[in-house]
Amino acid sequence: MSKEKLYEGKAKIIYATENPEELLVYYKDDATAGNGAKKGTIMGKGIFNNKISAFFFNMLAKNGIEHHYVNMPSDREMIVKKLDMIPLEVVLRNVAAGSLAKRLGVEEGTKLSSPVLEYYYKSDELGDPMINQFHIRAMKWATDEELMQIEKMGFKINSIMTEYLKTKNIDLIDFKLEFGRFKGNVLLGDEISPDNCRFWDSTTHEKLDKDRFRRDLGHVEDAYKEILHRLTGEQA
Ligand code: ADP
Ligand code: UDP
Repeated sequence: MSKEKLYEGKAKIIYATENPEELLVYYKDDATAGNGAKKGTIMGKGIFNNKISAFFFNMLAKNGIEHHYVNMPSDREMIVKKLDMIPLEVVLRNVAAGSLAKRLGVEEGTKLSSPVLEYYYKSDELGDPMINQFHIRAMKWATDEELMQIEKMGFKINSIMTEYLKTKNIDLIDFKLEFGRFKGNVLLGDEISPDNCRFWDSTTHEKLDKDRFRRDLGHVEDAYKEILHRLTGEQA
């Protein structure tokens, strides 16, 4: 059966399904960094990220977070609720790393005394510029009520994931979320994987995420495999 392709992004392809309220998401092995400046392939990444995301969505649901995930018809595919996406990248941070360490002039790994939430406008052409709630209000990208919901969910997701990952000897340094509207509610969408989270081994501080690709650290596939294994026990 041929599926109607609706959108192809950098990491995933979105198809229509027979159900107008649902989409099929296909996870690719393609990897990009620096807003597409660096391109490559991480073998098996699509499978790892699909399974890792499904795991996190299920775990978050048990803790009261509403999300788009429905089921996983294959290793690389998930069915999700079709959301009206809010064009924001919502970044939560517990430890300064990446762009924040640079912006504040602090060493990567500096603990933040309270979690930080940042907004970026999702636009490849503009390179995802950092914005604040006043830009969002002025541009009508989301209502104040939706932003309140996003902030509440963002901090709650951060606490749930941080606590859970501690039990797997993983520090949650920072991560990016996307949200969308569904029948009047704000739901968590997109993915939660080593592509958009920084995971450090709590003991060795070894990076178990896409920074291994971004920074040419080697053993990229092993990092994704290790995260799936620690979360689900699955040996890929
Ligand atoms: P990008 O668009 O940044 O290159 P991807 O390759 O991950 O990213 O493409 C996935 C696209 O699907 C993103 O634009 C994301 O905002 C969108 N998306 C994620 N979840 C949903 C959903 N439930 N409904 C509609 N769109 C979604
Ligand atoms: N992130 C993402 N998509 C982006 C930018 C960032 O998923 O387009 C994630 C990234 O994986 C990290 C967090 O958001 O977990 C913070 O990223 P940062 O701003 O430090 O940017 P980077 O240093 O990766 O450019």
